Amino acid sequence: MSNTFDLLIIGGGAHGASLAFHLSARGLKVAILEKSFIASGATGRSSGLVRMHYDLEAEARLAWESFAWFRDWKERVGGDSGFTRTGFLQIARREHVETLIANTAMLQNIGISTVLINAGDVKRLAPSFLTDDFDFAAYEPESGYADPVSTTTSLMDAAKARGAVFVSDCLVTGITLKSGKVTGVTSSKGEFHAPIVVNAAGPWARNICQMVGLEIPISTWRHDTMFVVRPHELHLSHPTVIDFPNLMYFRPEANLTLVGLEDGNPLGEDPDGDADHAHKGFVERAIDRVCQRIPLMESGRLQSAHGGYDGITTDQHPALGPIGPDGFWLDCGFSGTGFKISPAVGLCLSEWILDGAPKTVDISIFTPARLTQGRHLVSEHPYESIWR
Ligand SMILES: Cc1cc2nc3c(=O)[nH]c(=O)nc-3n(C[C@H](O)[C@H](O)[C@H](O)COP(=O)(O)OP(=O)(O)OC[C@H]3O[C@@H](n4cnc5c(N)ncnc54)[C@H](O)[C@@H]3O)c2cc1C
Repeated sequence: MSNTFDLLIIGGGAHGASLAFHLSARGLKVAILEKSFIASGATGRSSGLVRMHYDLEAEARLAWESFAWFRDWKERVGGDSGFTRTGFLQIARREHVETLIANTAMLQNIGISTVLINAGDVKRLAPSFLTDDFDFAAYEPESGYADPVSTTTSLMDAAKARGAVFVSDCLVTGITLKSGKVTGVTSSKGEFHAPIVVNAAGPWARNICQMVGLEIPISTWRHDTMFVVRPHELHLSHPTVIDFPNLMYFRPEANLTLVGLEDGNPLGEDPDGDADHAHKGFVERAIDRVCQRIPLMESGRLQSAHGGYDGITTDQHPALGPIGPDGFWLDCGFSGTGFKISPAVGLCLSEWILDGAPKTVDISIFTPARLTQGRHLVSEHPYESIWR
C-alpha cells in the first residue's frame, strides 16, 4: 500500500467518517487513521439524539441539513443510520418561555419542522408525563434518534467504496512539518504523507494539537447514561425529550428508555478513563429525575449504565477550520452534541477545504482562532450553559 494521500484524517468516529465520505465523493484520496477501531470514541457511546432545537442558528442549520441525510440515508449514503422517528420535545422552564418562543421562531424561519405547544398538548402526546411544572414546549414531529455506530460504519463503507483507506489500530504519534507546512504523520504503523492533516480526534483532539505546538482550549467532558426497562404499565412509547426543568434528556428504544443528565458531567478527566461503568451515584440521580417526569418509571428496571467522553471547548461549540501550520485543520470540540450534525459538518468542511469556503452552511464562525483569542460564540437568545 502506498502511504501517500491527498489528505489524512486522524480519528474514525462519526466526524472522521463523514469528512472521508464527502471528500472521497469529490475524488480526493483520503486515509483515516484510527488508534483503535471504528466509532470506539465518543461516537460509540453517543445517545444518538437527532433534533434541531439549538439556540445558535448555525448549529440549527447544521442539524437541519443533517436531518435530510438521516431521513434519506439509504439513497444518499447506503447502508443504515438506524434513524427512528419518535417526535422530540424541548421542555422549557417557566423563566425561559420568552427564549423558547424566540428560538422556535428562529428555527421555523430556517424551515425546520417545529411548533410551540402548551403543557396540555404535551399531556395528550405523552399521557404518562407530569406536566404541572412548565407551560410550554417546542415540538419537532419529525425528529428522533439514530444509531451512531451504524451511521459511522455506513459512511466509512461508502467512503471506502470510493477509494478511501481506513487504517485501524494506528496510533498517530506525531505530525511532520517542512518549512511550516504539514507533510504527514508518524504512527504506530509507520509514516503517512499528505499536505493536509485533519484533527478529528474527539476527546483526544488537544493532544493532536500539541503535536504541532498549538494550545487550543479543548478539554474533555465526561457523560454517563443509563437504559431502563419500562414497566408494563408504560407499554406505550414516548417522544424523545430534553427536559430543562429536570436537567435531563431521555429517549425510547423499543421497550427501553435511555436517560442522561445535563448536570454532574465532569470536565478535564483523562479520555482514556473507565467508560464501561457510570460514575458512582449517577444511576440513583438519573432514576430520581426520570421518575419526576414519568412517575410510573418507579417500577422500571435498570438494564445497563455506562459513560463516555467528548471534547468540549470553552464556549461549548465546535472548533472547525484551519489553524497553525499550513495544511492543519480542526474538526473537533463537539461538546457533547456533535453526532447529529456530523453529516453536514463533513459536507461543509469538504467545501471549505476544496473550494476555499463552506457553502451549504457557513461554518466559518466556528473558526478555532476564536478560542485561542478568547472570543466566545453567543447565540441571540441563549438558554444557559447546559453542561455543568
Ligand atoms: C455519552 C455521550 C452521549 C452523547 N449523546 C449525544 C446525542 O444524543 N446527540 C448528539 O448529537 N451528540 C451526542 N454526543 C456527542 C457526540 O457523540 C460526539 O460529539 C461525536 O460522536 C464526536 O465524534 P468525533 O468523530 O468527533 O469523535 P470520536 O467519536 O471520539 O472519534 C475520535 C476518534 O479519534 C481516535 N483517536 C484519538 N487520538 C488518536 C490518535 N492519536 N491516533 C489515531 N486515532 C486517534 C479515537 O480512538 C476515536 O475513535 C454524546 C457524547 C457522549 C460521550
